[in-house]
Amino acid sequence: MRPAVFLDRDGVLTEEKSYICFPEELAVFSYARECVKKIHEKGCYAIVITNQSGVARGLFSEESLREINEQLTRKTEVDKIYYCPHHPEGKIKPYGKVCSCRKPATGLLKQACKDFSINLEASYMVGDRAGDILAGQRMGLKTILVESGYGTKGLEQPVVPDYVVKDLREAVEILPDRSEL
Ligand SMILES: [Zn+2]
Repeated sequence: MRPAVFLDRDGVLTEEKSYICFPEELAVFSYARECVKKIHEKGCYAIVITNQSGVARGLFSEESLREINEQLTRKTEVDKIYYCPHHPEGKIKPYGKVCSCRKPATGLLKQACKDFSINLEASYMVGDRAGDILAGQRMGLKTILVESGYGTKGLEQPVVPDYVVKDLREAVEILPDRSEL
C-alpha cells in the first residue's frame, strides 16, 4: 500500500481556463512535471481526479478528452487520470445526468482505490475549488487548497481545508518524506 496524492487538473496542474477542448489548449504549469516527480519520490501515487462537464455540455467529445489526457500524462507523468464527463444539466446523452463521480461526489476516488492499493489515511487531495476539498474530506483525506486556480476568493461555498498554499510546489513540500510514512 502506498499513499496517493489526488490532484485536480485545472488550476493545479494546468492553467485554469474554463474549458479545454483541444490538446493544444492545455497549458501545463512549468513546474507540474517536477512536482509529480517529487510526489513519486515521496513514495506516493500521483492520480488526477477531474470534473470535465464539457463532455455533457457538448463542448468536446470524450474522445477529445482522452487525447487531452494522454497529453497531460505525457507532460506530467501522473499515474492515472480519472474524469467525470457528466453534468446534471448537460444536453448530450448519455452524459447529462446526476452521477456519483462528479466532485464533490467520491465515485472517482473510490474507483482509484479499487485500481490501486492506496493507504487512504496517509493520502492527500489537492485542488482549487470547494468540490475538491469536500470530496477529499468525505474520503477522510488530508486536503490542500491551492491558490493557483480560482483561488480562495472563487470558492463556491465555504470549506476548511487542512492547508492553503500558493500552488502545487508548496503543496508537495507539505508531504512527509518517504521515511516518515
Ligand atoms: Zn460523473
